Amino acid sequence: MKPLARMTLHTQLTLRYSLALGIVALLTLTSYWLMDNAMSTQVLGAKLLNVAGRQRMLCQRVDVLIMRAEAEVGAGRQAKLKELGEAFQELAQGHDLLLHGSVKFLGLAEESQAQRLLQADDGAEALYHDFVARATELRAALDRGGAAGRSRQDLSRSGDALLERLDRRMDALQKLGESTLRRLTGLILVLSGAALAALVLTGLLVFRPMVSKVVRDREQLVSLNRSLETQASTDKLTGAYNRRTWDVEIRREFSKARRQENSLCLVMADLDHFKRVNDEHGHQRGDRVLQEFTERLRQAVRASDTVYRLGGEEFAVLLPGTDIEQGRVAAEKLRVHVANTALDGVPITASFGVTETDGNESPDEFFRRADQAMYAAKAGGRNRVEIAAKDV
Ligand code: GH3
Ligand code: MG
Ligand code: MG
Repeated sequence: MKPLARMTLHTQLTLRYSLALGIVALLTLTSYWLMDNAMSTQVLGAKLLNVAGRQRMLCQRVDVLIMRAEAEVGAGRQAKLKELGEAFQELAQGHDLLLHGSVKFLGLAEESQAQRLLQADDGAEALYHDFVARATELRAALDRGGAAGRSRQDLSRSGDALLERLDRRMDALQKLGESTLRRLTGLILVLSGAALAALVLTGLLVFRPMVSKVVRDREQLVSLNRSLETQASTDKLTGAYNRRTWDVEIRREFSKARRQENSLCLVMADLDHFKRVNDEHGHQRGDRVLQEFTERLRQAVRASDTVYRLGGEEFAVLLPGTDIEQGRVAAEKLRVHVANTALDGVPITASFGVTETDGNESPDEFFRRADQAMYAAKAGGRNRVEIAAKDV
């Protein structure tokens, strides 16, 4: 088996969960078994008490039957003596249960404490035999037609002694039952506490890491999604929005301008003789110039305006709620900003084409017009802003 540290979190959590469930199941089964034992102890106590009560009743019955048999003659006496014989038999059965502890009837284990208690040599056995012997003797005397006389009082005394011994046994058994019950209840309490602790540990060692992992995974997924979204919508080099985003947003801005009856302005910007920058300073320097140019565009416009890199060194800036005059001012500001301060130490200029729309034309036309204005700026000597109004 792999060491715990090398297992995946999934395997670790599954193992911990199974272990915790196993422990809880084991504890529950043990509790059930103990409860069952406690119940048996109670049932055993009740059975013994029942048998003891019956023995008491039988002893008294023997006494009464002898008294009645003595009062009768002939067939009446014989009938009572017969009853007396039956009472002896029942007494013998009860005796067997109480003094010898019939394993089968009481459900006792051979070596159980209760069994040992029932078989203890406390003189009960001798008292029983004494009682039975006296009763048998009296029965024989009565059978012969004689009288019980004072022997009946001896029999009563012998019976009392036997019952007193039985009572003592019952007391001892009851105490044993109570202490067993107390022990079992304590054990059940401990096991229930352990099961509860196992459940708490399951919460700490299984559910907590599981929930943390789910939360962590979710956060990673959200941030991954965000970075994928950014990757898909922006240009890697400059961070400006790419042509894909342009295609989506130009339509949205168009319908917004139409709906709100606002003018939407587009400034197309293209660096002049940029090819030379690459040729003279190298491609990497050219990249940095593009990055700085993007930053300039961003700084020069409002937060609601958006900068797109449509390809190479060609950029578009969308200015919602802006008319062509305001757009021209913005482009002019930018032109000056680029021309007066070198980009990454490279003196360079840019040409700009500006146009506006009210949204009642196709985006392609809008774009073409701005592009044409930008090319007019190039043709006009570069480092210029040209505007192209919408034809009416
Ligand atoms: P014009 O004034 O007419 O716009 O001249 P230009 O040289 O700027 O235009 P041209 O279209 O001839 O060349 C554009 C150059 O831009 C060519 C290409 O090497 C360069 N370029 C395009 N994309 C990148 C880029 O991502 N990084 C760098 N360093 N250069 C790029
Ligand atoms: Mg150029
Ligand atoms: Mg170009």
